[in-house]
Amino acid sequence: MSNIEQTLSIIKPDAVERNLDNEIKEMFTDKGFKIIKDKKIQITKAEAEQFYKVHETKPFYNDLCAYLSSGPIVVMILEKENAVLGNRELMGATKPEDAAEGTIRKKYGISIDKNSVHGSDSVENAKIEINFFFKD
Ligand code: UDP
Repeated sequence: MSNIEQTLSIIKPDAVERNLDNEIKEMFTDKGFKIIKDKKIQITKAEAEQFYKVHETKPFYNDLCAYLSSGPIVVMILEKENAVLGNRELMGATKPEDAAEGTIRKKYGISIDKNSVHGSDSVENAKIEINFFFKD
């Protein structure tokens, strides 16, 4: 039985700054993801704080929100069979040095904070995150 899902992906400032957005999009489409919507935007620190609210109590929260709002990002709705898990697999581990060969973070990530991509971690959060960026 098919289980088509949508998930939210963000190409983070470190990757957009290095003009890697097209190469990263190609890694998704090569794996069969459809890019349903995408846009390049810059968000405010307050918006980043809202987006990352689940991490509010973490020591890295302030830096994380400052970073995500520090430059342009590309936000995308990705669609595929089991897209949430498939995206997490293609992204690789949070720490680029721990990420598996062939993953986006292994290829392009610089450090735990500049790790090039964000992806929703559950179907429920994917819906919330898609709605956050694509309200229409
Ligand atoms: N992060 C960080 N320091 C840490 C842990 C996480 O800067 O010690 C950043 C990292 O960029 C990560 C984001 O916070 O992508 C969200 O953390 P999460 O644990 O949700 O990782 P992800 O789902 O992005 O792999």
